[in-house]
Amino acid sequence: MRPLRALLFCILLGAPAHAQGTPAELIQALQAAARAGDADAYRALLGGSGTFSVEGRNFAADLARVPQPSVTYKLSELRVDGDHARARLTLSWERTVGAVSLVSLPVRLERRDDVWRYAGEDMQVIPASTFTLGALNEADLPQRAAVLAPLLSGAAAQVQAVLGLTASPGATVKVYPSMSALSASVNLSLQPVGGWNEPGEAIKLMLPDGGTAERGALRLLSHEFAHLSVSAALEPGTDKRVPWWLHEGLADWVSSAYWADGRLDARHRSITTAAQSGWVPLDELRDFNAVPESRWGAVYAQGLGLVEFLTARSPDAPLKLARAFATSGDPDVSAQAVGFVTVGVLEAQARAWLAAR
Ligand SMILES: [Zn+2]
Repeated sequence: MRPLRALLFCILLGAPAHAQGTPAELIQALQAAARAGDADAYRALLGGSGTFSVEGRNFAADLARVPQPSVTYKLSELRVDGDHARARLTLSWERTVGAVSLVSLPVRLERRDDVWRYAGEDMQVIPASTFTLGALNEADLPQRAAVLAPLLSGAAAQVQAVLGLTASPGATVKVYPSMSALSASVNLSLQPVGGWNEPGEAIKLMLPDGGTAERGALRLLSHEFAHLSVSAALEPGTDKRVPWWLHEGLADWVSSAYWADGRLDARHRSITTAAQSGWVPLDELRDFNAVPESRWGAVYAQGLGLVEFLTARSPDAPLKLARAFATSGDPDVSAQAVGFVTVGVLEAQARAWLAAR
């Protein structure tokens, strides 16, 4: 009777046939799901709370989009404390053909009903007024990241000043020691980046070794707070209808106040050159997942150029355009909301304006 009863319990509780009873089994299962690109299986291995519950789902979705057949998951420095554990997770994978990426992160695991699940990076919380600021719990990063706490409200104020949007006072900011560690926590397919934000996720920020100049930190923070605030100003679930180039244009428009001397001039020169010859059709810069890395520069350059063109006509036009994209999902209807007959006309006039500037 006993085995049958146990089996019945498993079926009734919906427990997996081979639930991960140890941290080692959990890590093996994560690796198998990642290699197979099985997003559902990966999600079933996740616990955690807060923004990680969204970040983990998005990480799994990326594995289905870009499977990682060569990825290896390795656990070390395991410390179990009751139903919680801390450990070091080392990932190695071939993000681009022939180039092996290697990243290690301090992570948390949790056990419920005898089943271990992955609960995301081990972050140490740093007091930061109404915001939640966390730093990856390794070396002296939490102590170094404390310099960011008083800057968060300044970055939010910059978004308010430029776009008229209030940044969520409860925003979560997570700090990483390197671009590669940051990107490995987002998606294995993501090239190393210095900042990141997606709807429902934390703002993620790199704090390089040796600290960071205040202006550089404000540049990254205000850029990411702009993404957060624009997303929050749209109807839930419509953020992905806003073209990627427009999202980045708005964010760089906000953060350019903190750019290093000469960087905005250099950007303007590259926009002018692109407008004269080498313009990439905006439609090809619309979908983050469809834009090759070689064109990321065009997304930021042309996006800022479009925002500057629209702002010169009417200060609220860029955000109005973003809202129209989110509401309608139709490029021409969106262009009409800011006074152009079609999106093609908008693009042609912007390009001519930027080429002659
Ligand atoms: Zn951005």
